[in-house]
Amino acid sequence: MRSRIVEIAAAAGIAVIAAASAQATDVNVYSYRQPFLVKPLFKAFTDKTGIKVNVVFAKKGLIERLKTEGTASPADLIFTVDIGRLHDAVKAGVVEPVKTDTLLANIPASLRDPDGNWYGLTTRTRLIYASHDRVPEGGIETYEQLVEPEWKGRICTRSGKHVYMIALIASMIAHHGEEKAEDWLAGLKANLARRPQGNDRAQVKAIHAGECDVSIGNHYYYQKMLDDPKQKAWAEAVRVVFPNQAGRGAHVNISGASLVKGAPNRDNAIALLEFSSGEEGQNIYARVNGEYPVKPGVEGPERLTAFKADDLPLARVAELREEAGRMVDRVDYDG
Ligand code: FE
Repeated sequence: MRSRIVEIAAAAGIAVIAAASAQATDVNVYSYRQPFLVKPLFKAFTDKTGIKVNVVFAKKGLIERLKTEGTASPADLIFTVDIGRLHDAVKAGVVEPVKTDTLLANIPASLRDPDGNWYGLTTRTRLIYASHDRVPEGGIETYEQLVEPEWKGRICTRSGKHVYMIALIASMIAHHGEEKAEDWLAGLKANLARRPQGNDRAQVKAIHAGECDVSIGNHYYYQKMLDDPKQKAWAEAVRVVFPNQAGRGAHVNISGASLVKGAPNRDNAIALLEFSSGEEGQNIYARVNGEYPVKPGVEGPERLTAFKADDLPLARVAELREEAGRMVDRVDYDG
């Protein structure tokens, strides 16, 4: 496992962490985020502070690795995406709380852990994608409307077990209570055009292919599809709808970071966290993936409009994730 991670990191041209190389002038990051997303941020931090950022990139297994390494771990910070994965790290006991005035000032309360175990650094919202040709403008405006009879056999989504769906379902439980949320999820399943499959982009592809008329997906995929010659036609087949704008606002999730328990370079880690949440870091980090900054006053992506975001605390979403997972099983969403 380790050699595989080292290979991935080496192939990406990233300094590989060796315990012996961890200096007081370094900070060590374990990242589930891809190199192109974090490298510009880390480079700007190094340019400004002289603190070198060593990164281990992996698609999975970093929390297990932290557990195995225990107090011998060189890691100072975890960078990841989705409240679910941040919450998993807390549950695994591999992170420790930290609070500073800068972090509390930069990051709105709903986007950070009240105890300081994790901090949101960018936000993404879960949109409704609707066919230009087959859904009239204003034809669907809320998550709740997805269960209405007119959408029978017309909706595509990915697996209900995916972290993006779990967080959305958890938010429905928070807003409507368990019983109504379960009715909603069963109603959504009843309206599906096909068994849940594929990623968020695959649902838009299916709209383009005429297999369904409406899907649910994270906002940044819209721009990514427009920028990809092979996927441009998919994006052009849909309009994006920011849900629930007349009400509580659209469901949001975060990418974020946590301080590793016993971080050997604690001060540098906090400096990097603070830099990432500040104006310069926010501009770089949010922009690179077309995400929204968490710090109020920093501008969002150019091609998508500003929107009203649900300010439900993500800590509440984290608490309801397990219930959301059981609900997915009970309604046999993926079946
Ligand atoms: Fe994504």
